[in-house]
Amino acid sequence: MPSDTAPSAARKDFIREMVAEDVAANRFGRPVTTRFPPEPNGFPHIGHVKSVCLNFGIAREYGGRCNLRFDDTNPFTEDIKYVEAIKRDVEWLGFTWDSELYASDYFEKLYEIAEDLVKRGKAYVDSQTEEEIRVNRGTVTTPGSPGPYRDRTPDENLDLLRRMKAGEFPDGAHVLRAKIDLAHPNMIMRDPLLLRIRHAAHYRRGTAWCLYPLYDFAHGLSDAIEGITHSLCTLEFKDNRDIYDWLVHEAGFERPPEQTEFARLELDYTVLSKRKLLKLVNERRVSGWDDPRMPTISGMRRRGVTPEGLRNFAEAIGVARKPARTELATFEHYIRDDLNMRVPRVMAVLNPLKVVLTNYPENQVDELDASYYPHDVPLTGSRKVPFSRELWIERDDFMENPPKKFFRLAPGREVRLRYGYFITCTDVIKDASGNVVELRCTYDPATRGGDAHDGRKVQGTIHWVSARHALDAEVRLYDKLFTVPDPDAVDEGQEFTGTLNPDSLVVVPGAKIEPSVAKDPIGTRYQFERTGYFIGDTVDSRPDHLVFNRTVTLRDSWAKVKGGGAGGGQ
Ligand code: ATP
Ligand code: MG
Repeated sequence: MPSDTAPSAARKDFIREMVAEDVAANRFGRPVTTRFPPEPNGFPHIGHVKSVCLNFGIAREYGGRCNLRFDDTNPFTEDIKYVEAIKRDVEWLGFTWDSELYASDYFEKLYEIAEDLVKRGKAYVDSQTEEEIRVNRGTVTTPGSPGPYRDRTPDENLDLLRRMKAGEFPDGAHVLRAKIDLAHPNMIMRDPLLLRIRHAAHYRRGTAWCLYPLYDFAHGLSDAIEGITHSLCTLEFKDNRDIYDWLVHEAGFERPPEQTEFARLELDYTVLSKRKLLKLVNERRVSGWDDPRMPTISGMRRRGVTPEGLRNFAEAIGVARKPARTELATFEHYIRDDLNMRVPRVMAVLNPLKVVLTNYPENQVDELDASYYPHDVPLTGSRKVPFSRELWIERDDFMENPPKKFFRLAPGREVRLRYGYFITCTDVIKDASGNVVELRCTYDPATRGGDAHDGRKVQGTIHWVSARHALDAEVRLYDKLFTVPDPDAVDEGQEFTGTLNPDSLVVVPGAKIEPSVAKDPIGTRYQFERTGYFIGDTVDSRPDHLVFNRTVTLRDSWAKVKGGGAGGGQ
């Protein structure tokens, strides 16, 4: 959990500076109150993590409150399953809301405000089509023109509004519009739509209610109804601030909330729009909202990302006014950094090559001590790893004709087996087509634990698994979901799905894992030494069919020291 105390000066962003000033001046006369306002039309994604961490973080740091408010004003796209996913994911991230609220509970209150605006001549019922309204709104360079209904009297408007609510009219027959200024430089202020008729089944309100508020009418007033002080939203709502302020003022709220915009998270090689993520799900480009390649919280959780790693990432990228893209490497850095400090190391061979130790007794098993954590991790623990005559090593750790800098196994070459012995390759067995199928090696009993007592050195240490004891596993290696850094930027007429990476999932069917993992619950995270961070897949793994997802590779610098020591945090 981030600290409960106010943030250090170094961490203060422009929003926290503003909140601190408002608190010092007691500007709102009530505790800092924020809200996270998702529309329940999809699973939350890493962009929402930024907003959640910001809103809940500020409330916590300033002794305030944060509401979870479902912005559920569209009957066509919303669903209870999304409400449940959002609640589960916010909790999993480590946050607790002070109130769970629904904009759809404010429909009556918003209607009352609408009647009041009508009575005061601040809103009118327009019976033009939405298309006519759009055309008559003018352009950025030309003012709009009043339609034939703009001068209806308050009484006429009130009568129509009441009948709209009573369900007398079909969809689109009338809308309620604020009466502001058809020449306003901000197009949004040219008599914005407030309410429209929708005969539809809302997931909470059913079919009884048919007057749906538009975003602008619902959002600011929902904030005001809840006593929000700081309404934090992403930059695309900057132009909506005028109508936000107009409405909370006209509705008579004292010390109304203030909207402040910040740059949304834009992550390379990723799309962060629920509409697009839904398309990937519907078109079965991914296995579901929780596909480990998805930037959704549920996908990242299934992939092995930790809530702490996500919160550290959100804190590190901070909030700013200026739009910026975030590199995937930055995200992976924080995920890896957190895993490094918390997960046990075990040995797994993804692409196995058999090694037979010709001088090791046939039925002997040696139980070797192996620590779960390297020295620089403040956790302790160890297990026994069985060692026997037949082992699996990684195919990549052997080369018949190695180049100069290759320090692993080769004919006549001696290497260290991690936690085990020095072995020397004596023979290479091939099949009829010349493929290497097995290595014969000798081991040196005097090197148990990995040290030669005669001071002899080896340059390479490789991982291994005892063949007789190994567990079989399917390993899923994930890569970027898209091949281009900005998949949203596609040419006209092109679909963003055109740049999906066909190799974003590589299934390794025949991996060999050390037997100690059999005792761990499915869903345990590990570092497979020298290979990456992994988690047991909670959806497809069974005791008799283990499946592991690669969360993230080891640090990129590993490539440079690959031939050398054991690496992977050693
Ligand atoms: P989407 O395009 O994915 O549907 P949205 O903004 O419509 O995104 P909402 O459910 O309305 O999604 O968003 C809830 C909150 O999360 C809003 O305050 C929104 O500004 C914020 N949010 C959404 N996407 C991001 C992002 N990429 N970075 C930061 N905040 C975001
Ligand atoms: Mg939205």
